[in-house]
Amino acid sequence: RDPLLDPAVPDDVPDDRALRPQTLDEFIGQAEARANLRVFIESARRRADAMDHVLFHGPPGLGKTTLAQIMARELGVGFRMTSGPVLAKAGDLAAILTNLEARDVLFIDEIHRLNPAVEEVLYPALEDFALDLVIGEGPAARTVRIDLQPFTLVGATTRLGLLTTPLRDRFGIPTRLEFYTTAELHQIVTRGARLMGAPASDDGAQEIARRARGTPRIAGRLLRRVVDFAVVEGDGTVTRAIADRALTRLGVDHLGLDSADRRYLGLIAENYGGGPVGIETIAAALSESRDALEEVIEPYLLQQGLIARTPRGRMLAHKGWTHLGLDVPRGQTD
Ligand code: ADP
Repeated sequence: RDPLLDPAVPDDVPDDRALRPQTLDEFIGQAEARANLRVFIESARRRADAMDHVLFHGPPGLGKTTLAQIMARELGVGFRMTSGPVLAKAGDLAAILTNLEARDVLFIDEIHRLNPAVEEVLYPALEDFALDLVIGEGPAARTVRIDLQPFTLVGATTRLGLLTTPLRDRFGIPTRLEFYTTAELHQIVTRGARLMGAPASDDGAQEIARRARGTPRIAGRLLRRVVDFAVVEGDGTVTRAIADRALTRLGVDHLGLDSADRRYLGLIAENYGGGPVGIETIAAALSESRDALEEVIEPYLLQQGLIARTPRGRMLAHKGWTHLGLDVPRGQTD
C-alpha cells in the first residue's frame, strides 16, 4: 500500500510536529470528545487529583496521540509514551510505572497488543495504583505490594474488539474518535498551509480536504506534497488547480481513494460479482494482511458507503459500483 495514504504509517518529519495542535482550543473537530475532555480535565485540576483513565479508539491518524499529549499539557503534568508491542515483559511496564510522578499521563498506543503477562501488571496499577511483585520461586514465593503514584493511563487502539473485557472495564472514559468532516479538514489544511508558509486558497484547501479520507494525518501528508508542487510549478500558493494536478499525479482520486482501495473494490466487482465475499478471501487475493484491510482500508470504504459488511462477507454497495464506473447489478438496492 502507498505509504502516502496509509494512516497507520507514522509521520516523522519536523513539519508534522509543527502542525500538531498543542491545546484543546487549537484542536479542530471531535467536538463531542473535546467538550467532555475539557470538563474532566478541569475537574481533575480543581480537585488536584489524577484524571480517570481514558481509552481512545478509532482508525489510525485521527488524533489519539495528539489528544493524549494535549491532556498532559492541560493537566500540567508529565507525559510518558509507549506502546503495546514495545512492552515485551512485565518488568518493562513495572519500570515505567514506578518512575511516574504524581498525576502523570502514561500513553500506551496499540494497547490491544499488550502481552497477557504485561496486562496482568496493569490491572492493580489501574485500580489501586499498586504493583504486585512476586519475590522468589516455588513454595517460598510471596507477593509484595508496592504503591505507585496516582496516574492517568491513556490507551489508544484501532481495534476495540481485540481488547480483553477486564482491561476495557478499567477505563472510566472510553472515547470513540470519528472520521473528520470535509469542513473540519478544510480548517486543518488551511491552518497547516499557513504554518508551512504556503497559503491555500479556499477551493485549494477544499480539494485537499475532500481527498483526505476523513483523516488529519493524510490531510497533512497530501498538503505537504501539494505544497511541493505549488512551490516548484506555481507561485507558492495552494490553488485548486495545483492541488488537483498534484493529487491526480499521486494517484489519489476524487474521494481520496488510492490504487489499493480501487484494487479492493475492483476485486469484489470483477471476481466476485459484487460479493458477498469473505475477508480472508479478499486478503489472500490482494496479498494484504486481514488486519491491514480491517484497520486501514475498510473503515473509510464503509464510512463512505462504498462497501457493506454482511454476515456472509463484504459486498459492493451501489456507490461502490458507480465509483468504479460500472453498472449497478439489477435488483441491488443496498
Ligand atoms: P493517531 O494517534 O490517532 O494515529 P495522531 O494523534 O498521531 O493520530 O495524529 C496524526 C496526525 O494528524 C498528526 O500529525 C497530528 O498533528 C494531526 N492531527 C490529528 N488531529 C488533528 C486535529 N484535530 N487538527 C490538526 N491536526 C491534527
